[in-house]
Amino acid sequence: METPGNLFVVAAPSGAGKSSLVKALLELDSHLSVSISHTTRKPRGQEQNGREYWFVDEPEFRSMIERGDFFEWAQVHGNLYGTSRKAIEERLMRGEDVVLEIDYQGALQIKKLFAYAVLIFILPPSWDELRQRLLRRGEDGAEVIEVRMQNAREEVAQARHFDFVIINQLFETALFDLKTVVHSQRLKYVTQCRNRSQVFAALDLL
Ligand code: 5GP
Repeated sequence: METPGNLFVVAAPSGAGKSSLVKALLELDSHLSVSISHTTRKPRGQEQNGREYWFVDEPEFRSMIERGDFFEWAQVHGNLYGTSRKAIEERLMRGEDVVLEIDYQGALQIKKLFAYAVLIFILPPSWDELRQRLLRRGEDGAEVIEVRMQNAREEVAQARHFDFVIINQLFETALFDLKTVVHSQRLKYVTQCRNRSQVFAALDLL
């Protein structure tokens, strides 16, 4: 599917810093918005319906699958997550840029539907550092951390299928890298032609 807006997909194992990087990117870039996914997971802490996620129960999620409401969906850590057509289609058709913060299974499904989607994988600098970050976060006990570390090995092995890889050793450097990927996508000929049509027309390029 071709749309005027750019579609960026960011995936990473938990603890790699994906959410903080995407949040910082969104604060710097008013032309970019994040897609709110549906999930069967229960809200955590201060999370609000319609802000972090649309929280639904499993029967509702399953009927959305049957109705074809999702561009992609996947089971992650025992819960279902999905990107609804409604969440991104209109914005992309209007020419807005959208970022999906989803797992690698969803990212690979999106690439099949939107060949032009830009897939970005965030890597931790080492396994040791990933474990330290999960411990410092203080959200999970030792057992859960070991499960997350095992899952992380599977997830990291998928990085080779992504277009760009960012190593999040220093947050500011990783953020700069992320901004660079987004910016370079916007400098592509077709995108410039669409967004700067007056300049292109004046230069007899249209
Ligand atoms: P959490 O429950 O910690 O917010 O998210 C768990 C994992 O599910 C994260 O890797 C997150 O990126 C992923 N995720 C969130 N929304 C979606 C979605 O719509 N589709 C897919 N495939 N994964 C998602």
